[in-house]
Amino acid sequence: MGLFHSTRSREATCTAKQAIRRGIAPDGGLYVSDALGETTIDVATLASKSYFELAREVLGILLPDYTADEIAACVEEAYGGTFASEEVTPLVPLKQAPNADGVSTYVLELFGGPTSAFKDVALQMLPRLMARTGTGDNAGEKIMIVTATSGDTGKAALAGFADAPGCGITVFYPEGKVSRVQELQMTTQEGANVSVCGVRGNFDDAQSAVKRIFADTELAVRLADAGVVLSSANSINVGRLVPQVVYYFAAYAQLLRAGAIKAGDAVEFCVPTGNFGDILAGYYARRMGLPVSRLIVASDKNNVLFDFLTTGTYDRKRPFFTTTSPSMDILISSNLERMLYYAADGDCELVANLMAGLADGGSYTVPAEVLARIQDVFGCGWADEDQVAAAIRDCWDANAYVIDPHTACGYHVLEELPASPGTAARVLLSTASPYKFPRAVAGALGLFCPPSDFACMDVLAKATGTTPPAQLATLQQKPTLHTDVVDVDAMGAFVEHAALNL
Ligand SMILES: *Cc1c(COP(=O)(O)O)cnc(C)c1O
Repeated sequence: MGLFHSTRSREATCTAKQAIRRGIAPDGGLYVSDALGETTIDVATLASKSYFELAREVLGILLPDYTADEIAACVEEAYGGTFASEEVTPLVPLKQAPNADGVSTYVLELFGGPTSAFKDVALQMLPRLMARTGTGDNAGEKIMIVTATSGDTGKAALAGFADAPGCGITVFYPEGKVSRVQELQMTTQEGANVSVCGVRGNFDDAQSAVKRIFADTELAVRLADAGVVLSSANSINVGRLVPQVVYYFAAYAQLLRAGAIKAGDAVEFCVPTGNFGDILAGYYARRMGLPVSRLIVASDKNNVLFDFLTTGTYDRKRPFFTTTSPSMDILISSNLERMLYYAADGDCELVANLMAGLADGGSYTVPAEVLARIQDVFGCGWADEDQVAAAIRDCWDANAYVIDPHTACGYHVLEELPASPGTAARVLLSTASPYKFPRAVAGALGLFCPPSDFACMDVLAKATGTTPPAQLATLQQKPTLHTDVVDVDAMGAFVEHAALNL
């Protein structure tokens, strides 16, 4: 009951703890459980539940081998005092709906954590879950977390794992392809167990290299001799995915408490998407009984998911664009593999073949019935750079509310798409503080942007009457501690060196 196996094969099963400790299945697939949807949450009970109660309930269902005490301790450590709001992920009404169909729109602010991006919700939790995976035969073994980041995962993972007992963390980011604030967040990270390194290449290059490092059996043997095992903090880890399911329920609970909907009413969620992790959590919530009319994938100019969702062909052979929404500049959307698994009714062989097609030829096409099932739940849209800037401006003009460029992709898509039939409210997931991208946001609002990003923060604060999060405003005073930059081919050696020095 509740066991996990690879999306690509049912041969080996493992517990949630083992799946979290390993990160990725040995055959390169992602861990899934066929128990998804067997236990649902009664929506009539949601209005009275706090974020902490919802987190305990959702994690208890999806990670069944953790004890109730373990889950409760993880939830308290992860969210007790680490987020700006007691709601953890507060829901804010927009004064004006982005379009004229009369359905109100709300913003779910996911960026109140220590690094000002939504990834904190999962990455404050993952180290606590990871710390409880040590059992008799692997007690004493050290874990080296290896992560490629498109900008936000890196810092959120560093903040979660810095000085975590028994763990080290190595983060690779594409040099020159993250915002200045994002880069400083990572290169100033303190902690004895922390390594940060730029990569000459883009995020997909770095992510693919990390997958090869995980698949390198000779490296694994050398590290095992030294008592170290590698694991992943990327959103392919079930320990990242599961905590994100909670805030879909929390959004619904807040809508109920605000009197915006009645229990059972359908809600539509629009999610700025890159690796498909955040929106997949919405699909899990739906399978667990949350009334979701539609999940809308919002992409930036790297619109590979839009093309897939409209044609059934996933083709990564296309130009890569560096945009103002770097955390969505992704051509290989890893978590889509889990969606394919569920849409194909657990057909591991099909998933394995599709993924082999992607690895070998750069593309795959899903059978028509699989596409139809996905389209049944998912809508999609995308925004180019001009549309992102216009959305930031429109949202400010209509609502006096400042959004970051990632959230702006979602805002633009909501402006374009009418609400799906039967939708009582729309929720836009806001994935980052606008102060993480002060230059792009101030520029979009037509404000004068000084050369320093920190001066841009001040300009933005004055013009909008908002306050930058303290952890971003104080970055410029921190010393840079990490200056390494390597080629993609040298990433494995970098990890090995860091792991052997743990
Ligand atoms: C990571 C990230 C996204 C994309 O999330 P996925 O789970 O990869 O789809 C969107 N916005 C921001 C700000 C992010 O950091």
